[in-house]
Amino acid sequence: MTLADAGPRQANTPDAVPATTPRMPSCGQCHSDVSLFFTGYLPAVFSPDGRGLLPPSASYTCTTCHRPDSHQVPHGWAPPRWHWYS
Ligand SMILES: [Zn+2]
Repeated sequence: MTLADAGPRQANTPDAVPATTPRMPSCGQCHSDVSLFFTGYLPAVFSPDGRGLLPPSASYTCTTCHRPDSHQVPHGWAPPRWHWYS
């Protein structure tokens, strides 16, 4: 997996405090990221209530364990082969 196509987005608000600690997507059962099927991705957004830049979040399911998960991910991370369609 390469992160080269994740885009140039940088975390530029180091004092922003996320609601949860962002972590890389990984199956909570088999602890692998090789079988993840991404079902949703919400890019980083500025919070409307002044909490600063919120980390992106991702939803995915492990196709081996059929275990779904959804949480915040590190700034700059995006699912493999993620594109903007505009
Ligand atoms: Zn799994």
